[in-house]
Amino acid sequence: MTNTVSVSLSDTRKPAILIVDDAPDSLGALRTIMLRQGYQTFVATSGERALDIALRVKPDLVLLDIVMPGMDGLEACRRLKAHPATARIPVIFISARDETADIVAGFDIGAADYIPKPLRMEEVCARVRAQLRMRTTSETQTAQADRLRMIVNSMDQGLLIVEASGRIQYANPACDRYLGCKPEDLVGRRLADLLEQTEAQADAVADAAIGQGTREVNIRHHDGSLRAMDLTVTPLTLPPMHAESGLFVALLHDITHHKQSEDALQRAAMLDPLTKIANRRQFDAFLEKEWQRAIRNAQPLSLVVLDVDHFKLYNDTLGHAAGDACLQQVAQALQCHAARPTDLAARYGGEEFVLLFGETPLDAATRLAEMIRSAVEALQLPNPRSPSSPWLTVSVGVATIVPTQLDEIENLFVCADRAMYAAKAGGRNRVEVTLVGAAWDVVKDAAVIDLH
Ligand code: GH3
Ligand code: MG
Ligand code: MG
Repeated sequence: MTNTVSVSLSDTRKPAILIVDDAPDSLGALRTIMLRQGYQTFVATSGERALDIALRVKPDLVLLDIVMPGMDGLEACRRLKAHPATARIPVIFISARDETADIVAGFDIGAADYIPKPLRMEEVCARVRAQLRMRTTSETQTAQADRLRMIVNSMDQGLLIVEASGRIQYANPACDRYLGCKPEDLVGRRLADLLEQTEAQADAVADAAIGQGTREVNIRHHDGSLRAMDLTVTPLTLPPMHAESGLFVALLHDITHHKQSEDALQRAAMLDPLTKIANRRQFDAFLEKEWQRAIRNAQPLSLVVLDVDHFKLYNDTLGHAAGDACLQQVAQALQCHAARPTDLAARYGGEEFVLLFGETPLDAATRLAEMIRSAVEALQLPNPRSPSSPWLTVSVGVATIVPTQLDEIENLFVCADRAMYAAKAGGRNRVEVTLVGAAWDVVKDAAVIDLH
Protein backbone atom coordinates (compact mmCIF):
# COMPACT_ATOMS: atom_id res chain seq x y z
CA MET A 1 0.00 0.00 0.00
CA THR A 2 1.75 3.12 -1.17
CA ASN A 3 -1.20 5.48 -1.23
CA THR A 4 -0.80 8.38 1.12
CA VAL A 5 -3.61 8.56 3.56
CA SER A 6 -5.12 11.86 4.55
CA VAL A 7 -4.76 12.41 8.27
CA SER A 8 -6.03 15.14 10.53
CA LEU A 9 -2.65 16.87 10.41
CA SER A 10 -2.67 17.97 6.83
CA ASP A 11 -0.59 20.65 5.14
CA THR A 12 -3.59 22.87 4.81
CA ARG A 13 -4.23 23.16 8.53
CA LYS A 14 -1.86 24.74 11.05
CA PRO A 15 -0.94 22.34 13.84
CA ALA A 16 -2.78 23.28 17.05
CA ILE A 17 -0.72 23.46 20.24
CA LEU A 18 -2.32 23.60 23.68
CA ILE A 19 0.00 25.35 26.17
CA VAL A 20 -0.74 24.74 29.85
CA ASP A 21 1.16 26.73 32.48
CA ASP A 22 0.05 28.52 35.64
CA ALA A 23 2.91 31.09 35.29
CA PRO A 24 1.72 33.87 32.93
CA ASP A 25 5.27 34.83 31.87
CA SER A 26 6.21 31.35 30.85
CA LEU A 27 2.80 30.85 29.15
CA GLY A 28 3.18 34.08 27.19
CA ALA A 29 6.72 33.30 26.08
CA LEU A 30 5.76 29.84 24.88
CA ARG A 31 2.70 31.17 23.07
CA THR A 32 4.75 33.83 21.27
CA ILE A 33 7.32 31.34 20.11
CA MET A 34 4.70 28.81 18.98
CA LEU A 35 2.81 31.47 17.02
CA ARG A 36 6.07 32.47 15.41
CA GLN A 37 6.52 28.88 14.27
CA GLY A 38 3.21 29.18 12.45
CA TYR A 39 1.20 27.05 14.89
CA GLN A 40 -2.28 27.74 16.13
CA THR A 41 -2.25 28.09 19.94
CA PHE A 42 -4.64 27.51 22.82
CA VAL A 43 -3.73 28.32 26.39
CA ALA A 44 -4.81 27.14 29.81
CA THR A 45 -3.57 28.08 33.26
CA SER A 46 -4.82 24.99 35.10
CA GLY A 47 -5.12 21.25 34.64
CA GLU A 48 -8.93 21.36 34.73
CA ARG A 49 -9.11 24.04 32.06
CA ALA A 50 -6.57 22.16 29.95
CA LEU A 51 -8.78 19.05 29.91
CA ASP A 52 -11.82 21.11 28.82
CA ILE A 53 -9.94 22.72 25.94
CA ALA A 54 -8.27 19.46 24.88
CA LEU A 55 -11.62 17.74 24.63
CA ARG A 56 -13.09 20.57 22.61
CA VAL A 57 -10.29 21.39 20.17
CA LYS A 58 -8.36 18.09 20.04
CA PRO A 59 -4.97 19.79 19.71
CA ASP A 60 -2.12 18.11 17.86
CA LEU A 61 0.17 18.50 20.86
CA VAL A 62 0.05 19.61 24.51
CA LEU A 63 2.87 21.47 26.27
CA LEU A 64 2.10 20.74 29.92
CA ASP A 65 3.61 22.30 33.03
CA ILE A 66 3.95 19.77 35.85
CA VAL A 67 3.69 22.00 38.88
CA MET A 68 0.38 23.82 39.03
CA PRO A 69 -2.05 24.55 41.84
CA GLY A 70 -5.10 22.27 41.88
CA MET A 71 -4.78 19.51 39.31
CA ASP A 72 -1.11 19.21 38.50
CA GLY A 73 0.37 18.33 35.10
CA LEU A 74 0.85 14.62 35.91
CA GLU A 75 -2.83 14.20 36.81
CA ALA A 76 -3.94 16.22 33.78
CA CYS A 77 -1.80 13.98 31.56
CA ARG A 78 -3.18 10.84 33.18
CA ARG A 79 -6.72 12.01 32.42
CA LEU A 80 -5.87 13.00 28.86
CA LYS A 81 -4.47 9.52 28.29
CA ALA A 82 -7.51 7.89 29.91
CA HIS A 83 -9.99 9.54 27.54
CA PRO A 84 -10.28 7.89 24.11
CA ALA A 85 -10.76 11.25 22.39
CA THR A 86 -7.49 12.66 23.72
CA ALA A 87 -5.44 9.54 24.46
CA ARG A 88 -3.36 9.80 21.31
CA ILE A 89 -2.44 13.49 21.61
CA PRO A 90 1.30 13.74 22.39
CA VAL A 91 2.07 15.49 25.68
CA ILE A 92 5.42 17.23 26.35
CA PHE A 93 6.04 18.02 30.00
CA ILE A 94 7.70 21.27 30.95
CA SER A 95 9.03 21.68 34.44
CA ALA A 96 11.63 23.30 36.61
CA ARG A 97 11.59 20.13 38.69
CA ASP A 98 14.25 17.91 37.33
CA GLU A 99 14.04 15.05 39.80
CA THR A 100 14.37 11.71 38.09
CA ALA A 101 11.23 10.39 39.80
CA ASP A 102 9.12 13.15 38.23
CA ILE A 103 10.54 12.55 34.80
CA VAL A 104 10.03 8.80 35.07
CA ALA A 105 6.48 9.26 36.36
CA GLY A 106 5.76 11.57 33.43
CA PHE A 107 6.93 9.04 30.86
CA ASP A 108 5.16 6.21 32.68
CA ILE A 109 1.78 7.87 32.33
CA GLY A 110 2.30 8.36 28.64
CA ALA A 111 4.20 11.61 28.12
CA ALA A 112 6.00 11.85 24.80
CA ASP A 113 8.85 14.07 25.96
CA TYR A 114 10.18 16.21 28.78
CA ILE A 115 11.71 19.71 28.56
CA PRO A 116 13.37 21.22 31.62
CA LYS A 117 13.01 24.87 32.64
CA PRO A 118 14.54 27.34 32.08
CA LEU A 119 13.43 26.85 28.53
CA ARG A 120 15.81 27.10 25.61
CA MET A 121 13.34 28.12 22.96
CA GLU A 122 15.18 26.61 20.02
CA GLU A 123 15.20 23.26 21.80
CA VAL A 124 11.47 23.59 22.58
CA CYS A 125 10.73 24.28 18.91
CA ALA A 126 12.85 21.32 17.77
CA ARG A 127 11.14 18.95 20.23
CA VAL A 128 7.68 20.19 19.23
CA ARG A 129 8.55 19.72 15.55
CA ALA A 130 9.86 16.22 16.23
CA GLN A 131 6.67 15.21 18.08
CA LEU A 132 4.41 16.65 15.38
CA ARG A 133 6.38 14.73 12.75
CA MET A 134 6.08 11.49 14.71
CA ARG A 135 2.38 12.09 15.21
CA THR A 136 1.91 12.55 11.48
CA THR A 137 3.80 9.34 10.76
CA SER A 138 1.98 7.35 13.38
CA GLU A 139 -1.42 8.67 12.27
CA THR A 140 -0.57 7.76 8.69
CA GLN A 141 0.45 4.28 9.76
CA THR A 142 -2.64 3.85 11.90
CA ALA A 143 -4.86 5.02 9.07
CA GLN A 144 -3.11 2.65 6.66
CA ALA A 145 -3.41 -0.25 9.06
CA ASP A 146 -7.11 0.58 9.63
CA ARG A 147 -7.69 0.74 5.91
CA LEU A 148 -5.90 -2.58 5.31
CA ARG A 149 -7.86 -4.21 8.11
CA MET A 150 -11.07 -2.85 6.63
CA ILE A 151 -10.18 -4.21 3.18
CA VAL A 152 -9.23 -7.64 4.47
CA ASN A 153 -12.33 -7.81 6.69
CA SER A 154 -14.74 -6.78 3.98
CA MET A 155 -13.10 -8.79 1.19
CA ASP A 156 -15.38 -11.17 -0.63
CA GLN A 157 -12.50 -13.58 -1.16
CA GLY A 158 -11.19 -15.78 1.61
CA LEU A 159 -7.69 -14.66 2.59
CA LEU A 160 -5.32 -16.82 4.59
CA ILE A 161 -1.75 -16.22 5.71
CA VAL A 162 -0.01 -19.57 5.56
CA GLU A 163 3.41 -20.76 6.67
CA ALA A 164 5.65 -22.67 4.25
CA SER A 165 4.66 -25.87 6.09
CA GLY A 166 1.02 -25.21 5.16
CA ARG A 167 0.01 -24.17 8.69
CA ILE A 168 -2.57 -21.37 8.74
CA GLN A 169 -1.55 -18.29 10.73
CA TYR A 170 -4.44 -15.98 9.89
CA ALA A 171 -7.83 -16.20 8.20
CA ASN A 172 -10.10 -13.28 7.28
CA PRO A 173 -13.85 -13.24 8.07
CA ALA A 174 -14.83 -14.29 4.51
CA CYS A 175 -13.25 -17.69 5.24
CA ASP A 176 -16.16 -18.32 7.60
CA ARG A 177 -18.60 -18.03 4.69
CA TYR A 178 -16.37 -20.11 2.42
CA LEU A 179 -15.58 -22.89 4.85
CA GLY A 180 -18.22 -22.59 7.54
CA CYS A 181 -15.42 -22.28 10.08
CA LYS A 182 -14.65 -19.31 12.35
CA PRO A 183 -11.32 -17.70 11.39
CA GLU A 184 -9.93 -18.39 14.86
CA ASP A 185 -10.73 -22.10 14.43
CA LEU A 186 -8.77 -22.20 11.19
CA VAL A 187 -5.59 -20.86 12.77
CA GLY A 188 -3.17 -23.72 13.38
CA ARG A 189 -4.81 -26.10 10.88
CA ARG A 190 -3.12 -27.16 7.65
CA LEU A 191 -4.31 -25.67 4.40
CA ALA A 192 -4.10 -29.07 2.68
CA ASP A 193 -6.52 -30.54 5.26
CA LEU A 194 -9.25 -28.18 4.05
CA LEU A 195 -8.98 -29.39 0.49
CA GLU A 196 -10.95 -32.36 -0.77
CA GLN A 197 -8.33 -33.86 -2.99
CA THR A 198 -7.82 -36.62 -5.42
CA GLU A 199 -4.89 -38.85 -4.50
CA ALA A 200 -2.76 -37.28 -7.21
CA GLN A 201 -3.48 -33.81 -5.86
CA ALA A 202 -2.69 -34.91 -2.32
CA ASP A 203 0.65 -36.31 -3.49
CA ALA A 204 1.45 -33.09 -5.31
CA VAL A 205 0.68 -31.04 -2.22
CA ALA A 206 2.73 -33.37 -0.08
CA ASP A 207 5.68 -32.95 -2.44
CA ALA A 208 5.59 -29.18 -2.27
CA ALA A 209 4.36 -28.32 1.22
CA ILE A 210 2.42 -25.44 -0.25
CA GLY A 211 1.79 -25.30 -3.98
CA GLN A 212 2.23 -21.82 -5.42
CA GLY A 213 0.14 -20.40 -8.26
CA THR A 214 -3.56 -20.77 -9.02
CA ARG A 215 -5.39 -24.06 -9.08
CA GLU A 216 -8.93 -25.27 -8.89
CA VAL A 217 -9.73 -27.05 -5.64
CA ASN A 218 -12.72 -28.59 -3.97
CA ILE A 219 -13.31 -27.57 -0.41
CA ARG A 220 -15.60 -29.42 1.96
CA HIS A 221 -17.79 -26.80 3.66
CA HIS A 222 -18.67 -27.35 7.31
CA ASP A 223 -22.27 -28.01 6.18
CA GLY A 224 -21.00 -31.00 4.16
CA SER A 225 -21.38 -29.48 0.71
CA LEU A 226 -18.49 -29.47 -1.70
CA ARG A 227 -17.48 -26.04 -3.04
CA ALA A 228 -15.37 -25.50 -6.13
CA MET A 229 -12.83 -22.73 -5.61
CA ASP A 230 -9.86 -21.12 -7.23
CA LEU A 231 -6.94 -21.20 -4.78
CA THR A 232 -4.15 -18.72 -5.47
CA VAL A 233 -1.01 -19.01 -3.36
CA THR A 234 1.67 -16.31 -3.58
CA PRO A 235 4.71 -15.67 -1.37
CA LEU A 236 4.20 -12.75 0.99
CA THR A 237 6.71 -10.09 0.03
CA LEU A 238 7.97 -8.31 3.10
CA PRO A 239 10.55 -5.59 3.66
CA PRO A 240 14.08 -7.04 3.32
CA MET A 241 14.65 -7.50 7.03
CA HIS A 242 11.68 -9.90 7.19
CA ALA A 243 12.25 -11.46 3.79
CA GLU A 244 12.92 -14.90 5.22
CA SER A 245 9.71 -15.25 7.20
CA GLY A 246 8.51 -17.73 4.53
CA LEU A 247 4.85 -16.75 4.64
CA PHE A 248 2.32 -17.11 1.85
CA VAL A 249 -0.97 -15.45 1.03
CA ALA A 250 -3.66 -17.91 -0.01
CA LEU A 251 -6.73 -16.46 -1.70
CA LEU A 252 -9.92 -18.48 -2.05
CA HIS A 253 -12.45 -17.50 -4.67
CA ASP A 254 -15.72 -19.43 -4.86
CA ILE A 255 -16.42 -20.62 -8.39
CA THR A 256 -19.23 -23.04 -7.51
CA HIS A 257 -21.86 -21.02 -9.39
CA HIS A 258 -19.54 -20.56 -12.31
CA LYS A 259 -18.83 -24.31 -12.33
CA GLN A 260 -22.50 -25.15 -12.06
CA SER A 261 -23.41 -23.03 -15.08
CA GLU A 262 -20.37 -24.37 -16.92
CA ASP A 263 -21.54 -27.93 -16.16
CA ALA A 264 -25.08 -27.04 -17.23
CA LEU A 265 -23.75 -25.60 -20.49
CA GLN A 266 -21.64 -28.67 -21.04
CA ARG A 267 -24.61 -30.94 -20.38
CA ALA A 268 -26.77 -28.85 -22.72
CA ALA A 269 -24.13 -29.11 -25.43
CA MET A 270 -24.38 -32.91 -25.18
CA LEU A 271 -28.17 -33.13 -25.43
CA ASP A 272 -30.56 -32.93 -28.32
CA PRO A 273 -32.77 -29.91 -27.56
CA LEU A 274 -36.00 -31.47 -28.91
CA THR A 275 -35.91 -34.94 -27.38
CA LYS A 276 -33.53 -34.30 -24.44
CA ILE A 277 -31.67 -37.53 -25.16
CA ALA A 278 -27.99 -37.58 -26.17
CA ASN A 279 -27.08 -35.75 -29.36
CA ARG A 280 -24.70 -36.84 -32.10
CA ARG A 281 -21.69 -35.18 -30.45
CA GLN A 282 -22.20 -37.10 -27.20
CA PHE A 283 -22.85 -40.31 -29.06
CA ASP A 284 -19.69 -40.03 -31.16
CA ALA A 285 -17.57 -39.39 -28.05
CA PHE A 286 -19.23 -42.31 -26.23
CA LEU A 287 -18.77 -44.62 -29.20
CA GLU A 288 -15.07 -43.73 -29.46
CA LYS A 289 -14.57 -44.61 -25.77
CA GLU A 290 -16.54 -47.86 -25.97
CA TRP A 291 -14.76 -48.78 -29.20
CA GLN A 292 -11.36 -48.53 -27.53
CA ARG A 293 -12.61 -50.47 -24.52
CA ALA A 294 -14.02 -53.20 -26.76
CA ILE A 295 -10.63 -53.48 -28.51
CA ARG A 296 -8.82 -53.81 -25.18
CA ASN A 297 -11.26 -56.40 -23.83
CA ALA A 298 -11.99 -58.15 -27.15
CA GLN A 299 -15.70 -57.67 -26.46
CA PRO A 300 -18.53 -57.32 -29.00
CA LEU A 301 -20.00 -53.88 -29.60
CA SER A 302 -23.44 -53.46 -31.17
CA LEU A 303 -24.73 -50.45 -33.03
CA VAL A 304 -28.43 -50.01 -33.73
CA VAL A 305 -29.63 -47.47 -36.31
CA LEU A 306 -33.34 -46.54 -36.50
CA ASP A 307 -35.18 -44.42 -38.99
CA VAL A 308 -38.84 -43.42 -38.62
CA ASP A 309 -40.94 -44.84 -41.44
CA HIS A 310 -42.80 -42.51 -43.75
CA PHE A 311 -42.22 -39.61 -41.45
CA LYS A 312 -42.57 -37.07 -44.22
CA LEU A 313 -46.14 -38.28 -44.66
CA TYR A 314 -46.71 -38.01 -40.93
CA ASN A 315 -45.54 -34.37 -40.94
CA ASP A 316 -47.49 -33.56 -44.07
CA THR A 317 -50.67 -35.07 -42.64
CA LEU A 318 -50.55 -34.06 -38.99
CA GLY A 319 -48.25 -31.06 -39.03
CA HIS A 320 -44.66 -30.38 -37.97
CA ALA A 321 -45.54 -29.76 -34.30
CA ALA A 322 -47.20 -33.19 -34.06
CA GLY A 323 -44.10 -34.57 -35.78
CA ASP A 324 -41.91 -33.03 -33.10
CA ALA A 325 -44.04 -34.48 -30.29
CA CYS A 326 -43.90 -37.85 -31.98
CA LEU A 327 -40.07 -37.74 -32.18
CA GLN A 328 -40.03 -37.06 -28.43
CA GLN A 329 -42.10 -40.17 -27.76
CA VAL A 330 -39.93 -42.31 -30.00
CA ALA A 331 -36.84 -40.99 -28.22
CA GLN A 332 -38.29 -41.97 -24.82
CA ALA A 333 -39.09 -45.45 -26.08
CA LEU A 334 -35.45 -45.80 -27.12
CA GLN A 335 -34.06 -44.31 -23.96
CA CYS A 336 -35.89 -46.92 -21.86
CA HIS A 337 -33.91 -49.64 -23.59
CA ALA A 338 -30.48 -48.11 -22.99
CA ALA A 339 -30.33 -49.17 -19.36
CA ARG A 340 -26.72 -50.09 -18.68
CA PRO A 341 -23.85 -47.62 -18.23
CA THR A 342 -22.34 -49.02 -21.43
CA ASP A 343 -25.53 -48.28 -23.42
CA LEU A 344 -26.45 -44.98 -24.99
CA ALA A 345 -29.43 -43.83 -27.06
CA ALA A 346 -29.08 -40.70 -29.18
CA ARG A 347 -30.86 -38.66 -31.81
CA TYR A 348 -28.41 -38.69 -34.66
CA GLY A 349 -30.27 -36.19 -36.83
CA GLY A 350 -33.74 -35.58 -38.28
CA GLU A 351 -35.82 -38.69 -37.66
CA GLU A 352 -32.83 -40.97 -37.35
CA PHE A 353 -31.79 -42.44 -34.01
CA VAL A 354 -28.90 -44.63 -32.87
CA LEU A 355 -28.18 -46.85 -29.89
CA LEU A 356 -24.90 -48.29 -28.79
CA PHE A 357 -24.79 -51.44 -26.70
CA GLY A 358 -21.36 -52.11 -25.22
CA GLU A 359 -20.29 -55.69 -24.42
CA THR A 360 -23.34 -56.93 -26.33
CA PRO A 361 -23.26 -59.69 -28.96
CA LEU A 362 -25.42 -59.72 -32.07
CA ASP A 363 -28.22 -61.93 -30.71
CA ALA A 364 -28.76 -59.82 -27.59
CA ALA A 365 -28.59 -56.60 -29.61
CA THR A 366 -31.09 -58.00 -32.09
CA ARG A 367 -33.49 -58.89 -29.27
CA LEU A 368 -33.16 -55.35 -27.91
CA ALA A 369 -33.69 -53.86 -31.38
CA GLU A 370 -36.84 -55.90 -31.78
CA MET A 371 -38.11 -54.78 -28.37
CA ILE A 372 -37.55 -51.18 -29.38
CA ARG A 373 -39.26 -51.64 -32.74
CA SER A 374 -42.28 -53.19 -31.08
CA ALA A 375 -42.28 -50.51 -28.31
CA VAL A 376 -42.55 -47.78 -30.96
CA GLU A 377 -45.31 -49.63 -32.75
CA ALA A 378 -47.09 -50.13 -29.42
CA LEU A 379 -47.25 -46.34 -28.97
CA GLN A 380 -49.95 -46.51 -31.64
CA LEU A 381 -49.20 -43.07 -32.98
CA PRO A 382 -51.48 -42.88 -35.99
CA ASN A 383 -49.71 -42.36 -39.32
CA PRO A 384 -52.89 -42.30 -41.47
CA ARG A 385 -51.30 -42.08 -44.91
CA SER A 386 -48.49 -44.59 -44.34
CA PRO A 387 -48.70 -47.42 -46.87
CA SER A 388 -46.90 -49.85 -44.52
CA SER A 389 -48.75 -49.52 -41.19
CA PRO A 390 -51.60 -47.53 -39.63
CA TRP A 391 -49.19 -46.63 -36.80
CA LEU A 392 -45.92 -44.85 -36.72
CA THR A 393 -43.13 -47.42 -37.03
CA VAL A 394 -39.36 -47.59 -37.33
CA SER A 395 -36.98 -49.55 -39.52
CA VAL A 396 -34.00 -50.85 -37.60
CA GLY A 397 -30.51 -51.97 -38.61
CA VAL A 398 -28.16 -53.77 -36.22
CA ALA A 399 -24.43 -54.28 -36.67
CA THR A 400 -22.13 -56.02 -34.24
CA ILE A 401 -18.35 -56.14 -34.23
CA VAL A 402 -15.56 -57.35 -32.00
CA PRO A 403 -13.24 -54.55 -33.05
CA THR A 404 -9.47 -54.74 -33.48
CA GLN A 405 -6.91 -52.06 -34.22
CA LEU A 406 -7.45 -52.82 -37.93
CA ASP A 407 -11.13 -51.83 -37.87
CA GLU A 408 -12.65 -48.41 -38.30
CA ILE A 409 -15.70 -47.07 -36.52
CA GLU A 410 -16.99 -45.74 -39.83
CA ASN A 411 -17.40 -49.28 -41.09
CA LEU A 412 -19.61 -50.27 -38.19
CA PHE A 413 -21.87 -47.36 -39.15
CA VAL A 414 -21.89 -48.32 -42.80
CA CYS A 415 -22.96 -51.87 -41.87
CA ALA A 416 -25.72 -50.76 -39.50
CA ASP A 417 -26.99 -48.25 -42.10
CA ARG A 418 -27.01 -50.97 -44.75
CA ALA A 419 -29.00 -53.23 -42.49
CA MET A 420 -31.46 -50.40 -41.79
CA TYR A 421 -31.90 -49.71 -45.52
CA ALA A 422 -32.41 -53.44 -46.02
CA ALA A 423 -35.21 -53.23 -43.44
CA LYS A 424 -36.74 -50.34 -45.39
CA ALA A 425 -36.47 -52.31 -48.58
CA GLY A 426 -37.91 -55.36 -46.87
CA GLY A 427 -41.17 -53.51 -46.12
CA ARG A 428 -40.26 -51.29 -43.12
CA ASN A 429 -41.24 -51.82 -39.45
CA ARG A 430 -38.61 -54.56 -39.15
CA VAL A 431 -35.12 -55.29 -37.86
CA GLU A 432 -32.20 -56.42 -40.00
CA VAL A 433 -28.76 -57.35 -38.78
CA THR A 434 -25.17 -57.44 -39.97
CA LEU A 435 -22.26 -59.14 -38.30
CA VAL A 436 -19.09 -57.26 -39.13
CA GLY A 437 -16.08 -59.53 -39.60
CA ALA A 438 -12.74 -59.17 -37.88
CA ALA A 439 -11.63 -56.77 -40.58
CA TRP A 440 -13.55 -54.66 -43.06
CA ASP A 441 -12.77 -56.76 -46.07
CA VAL A 442 -14.50 -59.78 -44.58
CA VAL A 443 -17.86 -58.21 -43.85
CA LYS A 444 -20.51 -60.83 -43.83
CA ASP A 445 -24.07 -59.88 -44.48
CA ALA A 446 -25.94 -61.99 -42.02
CA ALA A 447 -29.19 -63.55 -42.89
CA VAL A 448 -32.12 -61.19 -42.60
CA ILE A 449 -34.04 -62.05 -39.52
CA ASP A 450 -37.68 -61.52 -40.16
CA LEU A 451 -39.23 -61.14 -36.79
CA HIS A 452 -42.80 -60.96 -37.93
P1 GH3 B 1 -38.66 -43.38 -45.01
O1 GH3 B 1 -39.64 -44.36 -44.48
O2 GH3 B 1 -38.10 -43.83 -46.30
O3 GH3 B 1 -37.64 -43.04 -44.03
O4 GH3 B 1 -39.52 -42.08 -45.33
P2 GH3 B 1 -39.45 -40.71 -44.61
O5 GH3 B 1 -40.60 -39.90 -45.06
O6 GH3 B 1 -39.36 -40.93 -43.16
O7 GH3 B 1 -38.07 -40.14 -45.09
P3 GH3 B 1 -37.66 -38.76 -45.66
O8 GH3 B 1 -36.17 -38.71 -45.51
O9 GH3 B 1 -38.23 -38.56 -47.03
O10 GH3 B 1 -38.35 -37.71 -44.71
C1 GH3 B 1 -37.89 -37.46 -43.41
C2 GH3 B 1 -38.78 -36.42 -42.83
O11 GH3 B 1 -38.47 -36.20 -41.46
C3 GH3 B 1 -38.69 -35.11 -43.54
C4 GH3 B 1 -38.45 -34.13 -42.42
O12 GH3 B 1 -39.27 -32.99 -42.56
C5 GH3 B 1 -38.81 -34.88 -41.20
N1 GH3 B 1 -38.05 -34.37 -40.08
C6 GH3 B 1 -36.72 -34.39 -39.89
N2 GH3 B 1 -36.41 -33.79 -38.70
C7 GH3 B 1 -37.58 -33.41 -38.13
C8 GH3 B 1 -37.92 -32.74 -36.91
O13 GH3 B 1 -37.08 -32.37 -36.10
N3 GH3 B 1 -39.24 -32.52 -36.65
C9 GH3 B 1 -40.19 -32.90 -37.53
N4 GH3 B 1 -41.47 -32.68 -37.21
N5 GH3 B 1 -39.90 -33.52 -38.69
C10 GH3 B 1 -38.62 -33.77 -38.99
MG1 MG C 1 -34.47 -40.48 -42.92
MG1 MG D 1 -37.69 -41.95 -42.40
